[in-house]
Amino acid sequence: MTVGASPQRPVTALKGVGPRQGERLARLGITRVDELLFHLPLRYEDRSRLVPIGEVASGSEALVEGEVEHAEIASGRRRRLVCRIHDRTGSLDLVFFHFYDNQRQALRRGRLVRAFGELRDGSGACQMVHPEWEVISSEQAGHTDGCLTPVYPSTEGLPQASLRRLVARALEQALDGLTELVPDKVLAELGFPSLRDSLSFVHAPPADADARALIESRHPAVRRLAFEELLAHRLSLLKRRAHHQQACPAPGIDGDGRLRRGFRDRLGFALTGAQERVAAEVDADMARAEPMLRLIQGDVGSGKTVVAALAALNAVECGWQAAVMAPTELLAEQHCRSFRDWLAPLGVEIGWLSGRSSAAERRHHRQALADGTTAVAVGTHALFQQDVSFARLGLVIADEQHRFGVHQRLALRDKGEGGGWQPHQLIMTATPIPRTLAMTAYADLDTAVIDELPPGRQPVTTVALPDTRRDEVIERVQAACAAGRQVYWVCTLVEASDELEAEAAEASAQRLAESLPELRIGLVHGRLKANAKESVMTAFEAGELDLLVATTVIEVGVNVPNASLMIIENPERLGLAQLHQLRGRVGRGAAQSSCVLLYHGPLSETARARLAVLRETGDGFRIAQRDLELRGPGELLGTRQTGALNYRIAELTRDKDLLAPVQRHAHALLTSAPEQAKALIARWVGEAERYAQA
Ligand code: ADP
Ligand code: MG
Repeated sequence: MTVGASPQRPVTALKGVGPRQGERLARLGITRVDELLFHLPLRYEDRSRLVPIGEVASGSEALVEGEVEHAEIASGRRRRLVCRIHDRTGSLDLVFFHFYDNQRQALRRGRLVRAFGELRDGSGACQMVHPEWEVISSEQAGHTDGCLTPVYPSTEGLPQASLRRLVARALEQALDGLTELVPDKVLAELGFPSLRDSLSFVHAPPADADARALIESRHPAVRRLAFEELLAHRLSLLKRRAHHQQACPAPGIDGDGRLRRGFRDRLGFALTGAQERVAAEVDADMARAEPMLRLIQGDVGSGKTVVAALAALNAVECGWQAAVMAPTELLAEQHCRSFRDWLAPLGVEIGWLSGRSSAAERRHHRQALADGTTAVAVGTHALFQQDVSFARLGLVIADEQHRFGVHQRLALRDKGEGGGWQPHQLIMTATPIPRTLAMTAYADLDTAVIDELPPGRQPVTTVALPDTRRDEVIERVQAACAAGRQVYWVCTLVEASDELEAEAAEASAQRLAESLPELRIGLVHGRLKANAKESVMTAFEAGELDLLVATTVIEVGVNVPNASLMIIENPERLGLAQLHQLRGRVGRGAAQSSCVLLYHGPLSETARARLAVLRETGDGFRIAQRDLELRGPGELLGTRQTGALNYRIAELTRDKDLLAPVQRHAHALLTSAPEQAKALIARWVGEAERYAQA
């Protein structure tokens, strides 16, 4: 045994691991010896008990021993080696379709063989196809391992036997070198075993261990590892947050309220209790010299924009600039209109920057931002291009943040970092993120929830209909428009390019125009030029169009209260959260609104279950929770966000009860044992940490 061998050594330092083997291990994410130890079994095989051949049940896996009667090459449909073995209770055939001659030599009559595999009913006798097997001596007969045999996630060219050998070697050489990084007190409180005990247990559980509990991660030995991993990720986010907040101060912004009073007076409605509460939290954040990092979650239509406008006005009252960033041109344009309507009458100068602004326009707005004439800038990510600078950026507002990656969020933070200040950040999302996810994906943000809709809103009635009933649906469209209402018709495609989606929408618009000649129909899709799109949207908002055929570009933000019916074609192609967002475009006025999910049957079981969720509830948080259960976190947050969620052992949905203790202990550990915290991050986050710092 190599004494004091560091667990952080490259895995190629292990005997038997050459460059080729090293590459294969790297494919499994294993480059260091300790990573081999954290590579947990997928399942276990019980090879601790020898089963008499006569008692093995067909369809089950078993370890058997027997004496070879004969081994013959059988021809027939497929050439194969058949080796018959027997014990006192019965006989069975070991069958090999791929074999070498030395295998046949080894399985000579009279030899003792031990085999593990699944028993199947063969044509004549029972058989095991391609069992794991070995020839044993008569002294070895009857003696088995006392442990369950692990089966690891593997990759081509890396057989289980090699992996097992490597893990066993790593346990022998590196386990003692692993430092316990979770404080004893925490382990005791949670009833978790030590790191070493956990690892030796999961790699070689005693035969009587509850293997089910182990693979389902209900066993304390695995839960302890999942806990440690989640703790490490949490620590890394907390460190990142602290690093950011200490990098440079933010301006303490606490305006006198003069602009905000004017704004409220002109609004024409009172803020909801939830809006007031969240606005007050934001005020308190901004008053501090530490940069605010706040995420506002609020269901579609909960009125997040008003809260954002209040924050922007607070900054302007103190002579700071605010930037409002939206992920799409359409949404940015809409914000620009809202902010101009609301703030221009108060004498606040609004600037506009989008990827589609003309060069002259852009120059003008850039200049106004740089010299401070513009108080509030609205735009797409064009706002954060290199050539844009702000005179005194005090607040950044990002709408629909999940559309932006972590990198963009960080780039946006850096914008203000001239002159020794960094801006406060307010992030808004209408994709309700289940608490479990928010705590991990957004652990560096404080969250606030607007959990109340403005009064008078009626829930949207949702029905699912097969597209064989399209005619009925068209009649409904006609009836709604005849009653003076407006209608959205949304076309969806799977993984579509803008181009294909545009074509599909054009075809739908064409067909609808044929069936509904009396209606004024508009069409928007991602391929239209900005001004073309804007003029269609403006016409729809002004009531000059009855029916708007659109692709999912209208998903976020669009606000036309007179629209009371939405048809979504092929809803089975979209995620629940996205469908909920789309549906949120109706039910914004006083009229009873409905949404028709016009699906293309037959639906799979899951698709049916998913559409049912939408029919049953209008609560975005419940929908998101169900989406998380049905499709996993990647779908919900978008691939860009999932970098932080690639755990080795932990799984958010399954281990959600660990999150509260993780949160509780992370803070304490960071202050009381910073070195341990650092080591935990290095052990578990490693690469991902660099990503987080990017
Ligand atoms: P979202 O949270 O989806 O971004 P918006 O901010 O676009 O919602 O608000 C949706 C609509 O509700 C807008 O027309 C807005 O003016 C209106 N609204 C916001 N707050 C209130 C309120 N407290 N009372 C009545 N209407 C409100
Ligand atoms: Mg909005």
